[in-house]
Amino acid sequence: LQILGANSAAPAHGRNQTSQLLNINEELILIDCGEGCQLQLRKYKAHMQRISTILISHLHGDHYLGLMGLLFTLHLQKKSDPLHIYGPPGLAEVIRIQLKYSNSVLHYPIEFIEWEPGTEAMIIDNPIYSVRTIVMKHRIPCMGFIFSEKPKKRRPIEKKIPLWAGSSVFKDLKDGLDLIHPETGELIPNNELTFPPKKSRSYAFFSDTLYSPELAEKIKGVNLLYHEATFMDDLRDRAVQTFHSTAKDAAMMASAAQVGKLLLGHFSIRYRDLNPLLQEARQIFPESYLATEGESLYIHD
Ligand SMILES: [Zn+2]
Repeated sequence: LQILGANSAAPAHGRNQTSQLLNINEELILIDCGEGCQLQLRKYKAHMQRISTILISHLHGDHYLGLMGLLFTLHLQKKSDPLHIYGPPGLAEVIRIQLKYSNSVLHYPIEFIEWEPGTEAMIIDNPIYSVRTIVMKHRIPCMGFIFSEKPKKRRPIEKKIPLWAGSSVFKDLKDGLDLIHPETGELIPNNELTFPPKKSRSYAFFSDTLYSPELAEKIKGVNLLYHEATFMDDLRDRAVQTFHSTAKDAAMMASAAQVGKLLLGHFSIRYRDLNPLLQEARQIFPESYLATEGESLYIHD
């Protein structure tokens, strides 16, 4: 996971608005696309062309105003593969109207998938991973996303596989089948020839939301949680008024959901120094970290 921006509202203090790039088996998924996103992608040498999917959590400007610029740049770069864009109702219209009035036809097809407000759904499901939406409590329809790797295959130990077994046994061993000698019928149990599968990992992205303790159940045990922490807890009233969370809220969610690590983001422009937010969260959940632009995190099981 690479952080491209983690500020709220407006760029400030050298920080950009929400945007993240998630690499799953070399497939790149962009999560939100704040203003300046394409500059950040360039700055951190991301392979823009390889972005297959863009997820937009909601239509507040700080989460998607970078999208149009990125779409035009991909067009100029002669992108030809389809781009899948998931977002709230209205996003496709916003994009189409800009293409219409600039008389532009993009080189590549866009497949729009609009989710239904207030309804959680599996929006991506392939053999490697799935993505589910999770309803945020915000002023306009807003979703978070839960990324889950599918169960992985067993790992054959090459030096333990007898010579009489051909290379075609690898697939069977990965699938958990025992090895049987074709003539003698000798059976070698799978667990003597393979290591157990690597654990599947998960990541929850919480976009703008009022603190919603009931959501903890839905993200129980995820390896990494990104949770907005727009304010510190002394501004709780302001957070509630604007349907945002505090650093303390984020930490309480991480603690209740027993996640591996918590990443704080969506910082208000009133905070130049973010360490007080980090300290506030760490008092409740020690494995808290600040989302820092340019940093890449390997998600551990
Ligand atoms: Zn918002």
